[in-house]
Order: sequence, then structure tokens, then C-alpha cells
Amino acid sequence: MANVTPIPTESCKVGFIGAGKMAESIARGVVSSGVLPASQVQTAHLGARRSVFESFGERQVVQDSDVVIFSAKPQVVKDVVMQLRPLLSEKQLLVSVVAGVKLKDLLEWEDHSRFVRVVPNTPAAVGVAASGIALYYASGPAYVFLAIEALADGGVAAGLPRELSFGLASQTVLGAASMATSTGKHPGQLKDGVASPGGTTIAGIHELEKAGFRGILMNAVVTAAKRSQELS
Ligand code: NAD
Repeated sequence: MANVTPIPTESCKVGFIGAGKMAESIARGVVSSGVLPASQVQTAHLGARRSVFESFGERQVVQDSDVVIFSAKPQVVKDVVMQLRPLLSEKQLLVSVVAGVKLKDLLEWEDHSRFVRVVPNTPAAVGVAASGIALYYASGPAYVFLAIEALADGGVAAGLPRELSFGLASQTVLGAASMATSTGKHPGQLKDGVASPGGTTIAGIHELEKAGFRGILMNAVVTAAKRSQELS
């Protein structure tokens, strides 16, 4: 998880390995909702539904895709993953929509830390799939929502109106996340940049550290990961 870098949507290419009903539904949903143009959605399997996909050879699709979605039948997926393994890289996000195949097995076959298991359904075509996602980072937003709520409560405790405080808290998290992704700087460096000597920020950080802020967040992630493994 250390080298996670965001994949920009302007250039992001999605490749499906297996181009049946499920792949077509996802592709239609992705294109019709405007997430990606059809030219950035491709498939590797013959018999592909060409109205939705650009169809190429397996090697080319895998090497040319930022997101590789395994959407073949469960019986063949192990062979397919093992066969493509030498072509896959850590920069790619791998997704399996294969029913009944556990994330634990997918990770073992590919030895890849960026594998996500999604159990969608065909209403994905019209953007209304109900999807289960197995990747503990899916829990992350919940922790940030808690942090926004707590920051807003802190503002209210300090005398700000609730709505203003909530807006400031949300915008603060948005701004901090944008800085972290757009500058590529280490978060510690960004933190140092806003903590002047003897100032208010470092006083607040001191309080957070006394309460074990980092340890609490780390525990939350580790516990969610364990739970995800129990459930997968
Ligand atoms: P499908 O039979 O319509 O499509 C399977 C595709 O895989 C076909 O295009 C086939 O040609 C291709 N294929 C076969 N062998 C291959 C190989 N060796 N390498 C690459 N591709 C190969 O099936 P589907 O309904 O699209 O289901 C695909 C996957 O999606 C399954 O694993 C299924 O469990 C999962 N899924 C489907 C649904 C659904 O509602 N259809 C819901 C959730 C998950």
C-alpha cells in the first residue's frame, strides 16, 4: 500500500479480461455516466461486444491499461490471472468482479497489493449497480467523515455556528487531501509547513499526539483489514 498513486481520469484506460454481460454492463455505465470516453475502455477477449469496447490482443490490453478488470467466468480466472501475471505491474489497479473468488486467493495468485474484489450486478449499465467491495481502504472515508464531524464539533465548542463550522471542516479536509495528492509531498512535510514555532497548529498537534491520534487511526485500518479478511 506504500506506493499508491492516483490514476488521472483524463488518461486512465480500463481493460476488461473477459467481455461478457457483466463487463458490458460496467463499460456501458462508465461511458454513459461520462466517467471515461469509450476510447479509454478496451477488452482482450474475442467475441467482445464491439459496440462498447475497443478490442485488442490480451498482451496489449494488459500493458496499456491502468485498471485491469477480470470479468471472465470463475472456473477460468485462476489460469487467466496466473498467465497474465508477468505482464501486470504494481502501478495498475486490478479489479475482479468474479463471483465466489476470494480476495485472499486473488492476492496470492498475483501477489499484487492493488487488487480489489467487487461483486457488482448488471444494473451497472445504467449506473445503479449495488456493489460489494472488498478492500479495506473502502472504510477510509468513514474515518474521514468522523474527523470532519469532530473538527466541526470543535469549531462549535469554540463558538462557531454549526453550519459554518461544518463547511470549514469539510473544506479543510478537501484542501488538505488536494494538497497531498497534487504536490506529491510527504504529509509530514506538509504538516511541518503549516506548524509555525510556538503557534496554534503545533499546540493542536501536541494535543492530538498526547491522545494517540496516529495510533488510533492505524488501529482502525488494521482492524478493518482483519475484518475484511474474515469476511472475504
Ligand atoms: P459471460 O459468460 O457473459 O462472459 C464471460 C466472458 O469471459 C465471455 O466474454 C467469454 O468469452 C470470456 N472468457 C472465457 N474464457 C476466457 C479466458 N480464458 N480469458 C478471458 N476471457 C474469457 O459472463 P458474465 O455474466 O459477464 O460474468 C462474468 C463474470 O462476472 C463472472 O465471473 C461472474 O461471476 C461475474 N459476475 C456476473 C454478474 C452478472 O450479473 N452477470 C454479477 C456479478 C458478478
